[in-house]
Amino acid sequence: MQITLKKGREKSLLRRHPWIFSGAILQVDGEPAAGSTVDLLSSDKQFLARASYSPHSQIRARVWTFKDEPVDREFFRKRIHQATNTRSYLFDSKNNSARMIYAESDNLPGLIADRYADVIVMQCLTAGAEYWKETFADLLLEETGLATIYERSDADVRELEGLESKIGLLHGTLPDSRITITENNIQYKVNLTQGHKTGFYLDQRKNRLNVRDLAKDKDVLDCFCYTGGFTINALAGKANSVLSVDSSADALELCKENIALNDLPVDKHSSIEGDVFQLLRKFRDEARSFDMIILDPPKFAPTASHAEKATRAYKDINLLAFKLLRPGGILVTFSCSGGVDSTLFQKIVAGSALDAGVDAQIVEHLSQGPDHPISLHFPEGAYLKGLVCLKR
Ligand code: SAH
Repeated sequence: MQITLKKGREKSLLRRHPWIFSGAILQVDGEPAAGSTVDLLSSDKQFLARASYSPHSQIRARVWTFKDEPVDREFFRKRIHQATNTRSYLFDSKNNSARMIYAESDNLPGLIADRYADVIVMQCLTAGAEYWKETFADLLLEETGLATIYERSDADVRELEGLESKIGLLHGTLPDSRITITENNIQYKVNLTQGHKTGFYLDQRKNRLNVRDLAKDKDVLDCFCYTGGFTINALAGKANSVLSVDSSADALELCKENIALNDLPVDKHSSIEGDVFQLLRKFRDEARSFDMIILDPPKFAPTASHAEKATRAYKDINLLAFKLLRPGGILVTFSCSGGVDSTLFQKIVAGSALDAGVDAQIVEHLSQGPDHPISLHFPEGAYLKGLVCLKR
């Protein structure tokens, strides 16, 4: 099957960007099935790339390869081997979990695979990834030598591809929906079947260490704490006290279990189930103060079209956090919104400090970990940015 592009619309492919939008297409020969492999041709019928076809999505095709080569099990075996092999250094006596496949960034559009101890959790986000799902599952088990793979294809973006949610065990056995992983010598219980994303925020691994290093003797407020990634590291870093806030009672429950699991001082920890936006206001009115505040909110802007509303939300929480910080206090603030880039995020945080009447400096820029790499040809793969700011 072949797809011919309009004149001039081959440019992004020549720069190795893997997406073809519906508006770039001149002609589709035949009726390729959802997820099947098609050749992309320039308007003068030159071969450009081989891609998966997605009839329901605005992103109509995603490139598997820019070479004229077969796209088959052996092709995917090499791709999966390369991605897993280059991550082997992330596993050692202190770490048994990391992202193995990060979609476009690993030249495997639509496929996410996270390893949690001895279990792989896979997400197929596109028609193309769905088409090859069984092959991917087999190859992931073959490459890692593991026996269990669980599917969490329940991300909203599947709707844009005309795909329904799918959750369930693909191979092996899962004795418990919660498994225990080790990250930098700390253990976390992860709920693989109901947790966010594939269960845990693996992308914050390095940043959790930053918090551990900075927390000593501090009164810490961890906003949007989920199952306690930053909270636990602050306690492990000998914080004086840690207050964790999240709107999810289940997340807070697991956070408490994780603190106990690591034998950390429960008497230094407290938590509040509530809305961070309201709570920060309440704390401001009560003149509460902290030495360190962590803000790791959910995605406010999935795409650039949501940027304006997201900007207001980021501004709001960062402004309040600057006010609640004591002089010399540290703000660790994140955005995981693809629609807000690092330049805009820094501007928002600067505006927040200005409006809070606070002088602050950036002492560190943070981003997603090396198991979530960013292909130089696919800058959209960059989504997590963080700033460590010091209030003067
Ligand atoms: N910092 C966490 C990940 C945060 S994910 C970690 O390192 O693991 C975002 C969290 O924000 C989720 O747990 C979600 O329940 C919570 N949340 C979303 N909106 C909220 C709100 N308005 N107030 C409080 N928590 C909220």
